[in-house]
Amino acid sequence: MEPEKCCESGCIPCERDPDGKEPIDLCNYIGGEFVCHSGNEWKNVLEPATGHRFARVPLSTPHDVDSAVKAARAAQPAWGALSQSERVGWLDRIADALEARYEDIASLESRDTGKPISLARAVDAHRSVANFRFFADLLREQEQEIFEMPDATNFVVHKPVGIGALITPWNLPLYLLSWKVAPAIGMGNCVVCKPSELTPMTANLLMQVIDDVGLPAGVVNLVHGDGVGAGAPLVANSDIDLVSFTGGTDTGEKVAASAAPSFKKLSLELGGKNASIVFADCEMDSTVAGVVRAGFLNQGQVCLCGSRVLVEDSIYDEFRDRFVDAVEVMRVGDPSDEDTDLGALISSEHIEKVRGYIELAKEEGGSLLTGGLPCVPTGFEHGNWMAPTVIEGLSPDSRCSTEEIFGPVVTLHRFSGEDEAVAIANNTRYGLAGSVWTSDLERGKRVSEALETGMVWVNTWLHRDLRVPFGGVKDSGIGREGGRWSLGFFSEAMNVCVKHD
Ligand code: NAD
Repeated sequence: MEPEKCCESGCIPCERDPDGKEPIDLCNYIGGEFVCHSGNEWKNVLEPATGHRFARVPLSTPHDVDSAVKAARAAQPAWGALSQSERVGWLDRIADALEARYEDIASLESRDTGKPISLARAVDAHRSVANFRFFADLLREQEQEIFEMPDATNFVVHKPVGIGALITPWNLPLYLLSWKVAPAIGMGNCVVCKPSELTPMTANLLMQVIDDVGLPAGVVNLVHGDGVGAGAPLVANSDIDLVSFTGGTDTGEKVAASAAPSFKKLSLELGGKNASIVFADCEMDSTVAGVVRAGFLNQGQVCLCGSRVLVEDSIYDEFRDRFVDAVEVMRVGDPSDEDTDLGALISSEHIEKVRGYIELAKEEGGSLLTGGLPCVPTGFEHGNWMAPTVIEGLSPDSRCSTEEIFGPVVTLHRFSGEDEAVAIANNTRYGLAGSVWTSDLERGKRVSEALETGMVWVNTWLHRDLRVPFGGVKDSGIGREGGRWSLGFFSEAMNVCVKHD
């Protein structure tokens, strides 16, 4: 049977792909319709684990971006005029419909990114649903802010900002997109999403869900494509009022420069080079397990990963040996296998970058304790595979110890005393996150507060409460998202002061 065409130019919407074997051509979602892009360029979507093509993503043009922004602009007055409880009802419906596709989210995310299916379920699918539920609940709990004066009352009104550009990376595709869409539309904005061209599948699924639940046309739009053809024109579009960008620091710099002249509201969640600081009084078993998880979750491709492990001198040798042992028992393999701990890296270009850093580490005087080589599971010869790698002996000033590698590579460093630990941890342009491992909780708090980062965990890592502020300092970004910080970013606070009689 011929697959149905979605329009004259012949895209095949993925939901209608007859047997799942043919490459699927994705469509943009604009004004409540799945539509073909205006150009004729495509990018293959490759499974990182196998190198097989399993979809094609349209490389949209500035014309497509313009159409999406116009659709959002047309929808915004009616959407912004709904009551908050009506909009919250839509968030609930999206959460329910996404939850019904939980397994699809996990499986698409695992194929698209190369991450283990267990991780895609527990983190990606879980959080994508939870983000809509969380913001629905938070908005339900919102109370009118009132500031009384002896002769007047101030009412704070939170108005929509207008049209948002939501741009996301490949490492946590739907997790990060839903983290932006839910608060943005919850506060009455309409949005244009631009997911990573490397991992477009679950953004497409979200559009299917949004279409299925019947969200008013134009409230959420999606333009696929790369940074040059779609991302940059979206940020530069004069009808965009806010930009929420998550991605690399170098891209963030371009986004900031493009958004600045028209004073677009801007949130930048950028790269990191986070330290896990291990004190001699830590609880060794749980610290080794926690620091290994912090270093290698998602093949080390989480902005929060602790890619530098700083260990107090007196326990350095013992910790190093136990750490390396724990890394070596991690199972690298088929992402669809429930028992896999580490899957494939996102792309062949990315693996080249990671390999380049491993070579550089050797030139910079580092010693490889484990890994450093591709480790290709049988049957996955065309995928992007790299063994988890641990390096010691590098200066804290070296490039490998200060630049973001964003792969399964961890460097170990010795320190003596709190001051040196803090100095090494802060010795980078980044300032996103960190973790401190100690049985002295006073020290845990003291050291945390001395770190130049937006977030620190003590005796844990990536223990997320969605109410807390999330974001970085220095070159890791501008602004905070999460809880009321997201609601604040996606709205304009207006004060109305009413004088009493
Ligand atoms: P990237 O910066 O290459 O791309 C991110 C997104 O920006 C993609 O959708 C891309 O198409 C788009 N883009 C590229 N050029 C653009 C331009 N000029 N204008 C507008 N958009 C453009 O990042 P990546 O490689 O996809 O993701 C990895 C990076 O993301 C790492 O540095 C990681 O630390 C960071 N990250 C940060 C957080 C955080 O919360 N701080 C979370 C996840 C990932």
